Order: sequence, then structure tokens, then C-alpha cells
Amino acid sequence: MSTLTNALPAITENECIRCYLERANEKSSCDGTLRAVDHYRGELAPKEIGLTQAIKSFGIFCDCEYRMNTSKLKNDAQHNPDGSLICHGAQDGSLSVCSNWVDHV
Ligand SMILES: [Zn+2]
Ligand SMILES: [Zn+2]
Repeated sequence: MSTLTNALPAITENECIRCYLERANEKSSCDGTLRAVDHYRGELAPKEIGLTQAIKSFGIFCDCEYRMNTSKLKNDAQHNPDGSLICHGAQDGSLSVCSNWVDHV
């Protein structure tokens, strides 16, 4: 058995960061860092080196703060029968979110 805090799920092909963070949040608890965001960035957006620092400058210091403060799930977001989100895909190498999400205002 792996411990909760070590068990980040693998990113599925073309999955957007917000759908990924929702899955990561179900599988592992937040450890107070941007570890899932960083993992996603490292895998899919390796050029966005300054990203984590930029996020922190907005006052977001952990994965759950990122989830709460960046985008919100749309009422008509699509789910699988098991309740997980159906991701519509991210643009390559970016942290764009799919159409399940609206920018938080
Ligand atoms: Zn947190
Ligand atoms: Zn998505």
C-alpha cells in the first residue's frame, strides 16, 4: 500500500489540468504544496518553468487553493457513470482547461 500523500495519479492523455487536479484530489490528500500542479506542469508544460512562482504570487500555495481559486466546474460538465469527469482535453503544452470549466471570477 502506498501512502496517501505519495499517490498522485498518472495524467491521462491530453487531460486538462483542472480535470487532473480533481482526480488527484480524490486519490491523494493535499500536502500543502503545489505538488500536483507541479507534476502536471513538468509532464505536459515543461516550458512553463516560472509557473509555480507565478501562481504563488497570486497567493495560491497548494493544490486545493489552486482548485478553489482558478476555475469552477460548470453545471453542465460531463461525467462518467462512476462520477468522474469526462475531460475534453487541453491544448498541448499549456495549462488551459477544457470546456467543463469556467474561469473563476
Ligand atoms: Zn491544500
Ligand atoms: Zn478537462
